Amino acid sequence: MTDNLVLSKCKEYLRTLCVDITERCVGSNGNRQATYFIEKELSKYDWETEMAEFEAIDWEEYGANLRSDEESFDVLVSPYSPGFRGDGELVSASTIEELSKINANNKIIFLFGEIAREQLMPKKFVFYNPEEHQKIISILENSGAKAIISATGRNSALAGGVYPFPLIEDGDFDIPSVYMTEDEGFKLKSKIGRIVFLESKSKRIPGKGYNVIGKKGNENGQKIVVTAHIDAKKNTPGAIDNATGVIVLLLLSELLKSYNGNRLIEIVALNGEDYYSVPGQMNYINTNKINFNKILLNINIDGAGYKQGLSSFSLFNLPDEILQKTQIVINQFSGITEGVQWPQGDHSIFLQFGVPAIAVSSQWFIDNIDNQDITHTPKDNIGIVDCNKIIEISQALNTLIRSL
Ligand SMILES: [Zn+2]
Repeated sequence: MTDNLVLSKCKEYLRTLCVDITERCVGSNGNRQATYFIEKELSKYDWETEMAEFEAIDWEEYGANLRSDEESFDVLVSPYSPGFRGDGELVSASTIEELSKINANNKIIFLFGEIAREQLMPKKFVFYNPEEHQKIISILENSGAKAIISATGRNSALAGGVYPFPLIEDGDFDIPSVYMTEDEGFKLKSKIGRIVFLESKSKRIPGKGYNVIGKKGNENGQKIVVTAHIDAKKNTPGAIDNATGVIVLLLLSELLKSYNGNRLIEIVALNGEDYYSVPGQMNYINTNKINFNKILLNINIDGAGYKQGLSSFSLFNLPDEILQKTQIVINQFSGITEGVQWPQGDHSIFLQFGVPAIAVSSQWFIDNIDNQDITHTPKDNIGIVDCNKIIEISQALNTLIRSL
């Protein structure tokens, strides 16, 4: 294809994934449409495809309000929370110790300060789940509380660029919850010990999702698995996080159309990196856990193609030969540099199983991982993407894979 053709194809992919399909959160119609689209494209380039199905709920919300003594407070419904309508005495805790001491039975719990400083990991999220988080969740579940209100700030590393961030985002946690800014929380402190009325309208909708897997190459060869998560958070077009990653998969699938080398190449659109229970990732692990030793290398693309700065390849445990070949490719492409290591992505799954990995992203995002305000928000739209970078990455990966 000529440069112009690739560029217009890349833009078209971006429009399809971020504009025509209006949402890609797991369990939604848009998410399923996106996976069917990927499968169709992979088939077009002669990949043997598979749709691995799993259960995943979708969720809708219609706003919330909180009142006490004629005063009202701005609150947001926690993602995947069940709805609620009722009143109760407001009790509060700002530390785990305070939380374990209060009687919250039949009351509404207000969490602020230290206990609400970082997003609590979902119950079924196995990759990173601090004991402290599990303890808070368990006390809450045994408290008999009717509902939970939390006041939070910003927590870019765990919750992306949103402010305030939902303290709880977990479809497996059944106490209704809402969240508010720290400023609003400061006002709410005057209502501790008083009766508050909370109405939060939302519902959980049963649904399904799919990982899309494409295979090509030597059936008996060692595997190179190239992954990118196809899902996006609710209320974001998910351009950089992670339509661009999926587009790299698609452009690469075309570049590798005629591949007949020694390796088995697997292209996988994983579905759930930004969803509370990471169902696609769990499905992939459960299906492949005895076969991770057959994987030579994982290449995961997440956060690539940002208009500012260079693309980065972060290298994890690469054996000498792969390391040398990767460094040659990095030097060959002027828009790509070696990046520092970072843990928040699907490459970590492969690392846990002892598989060497390359995490492909944008250097700007790695440098600003703790304070950026773009991912998981409406700002993550097609306007911040540079398609030339996506094309360069797919060409570099094509060169690298063919050299291995
Ligand atoms: Zn991501």
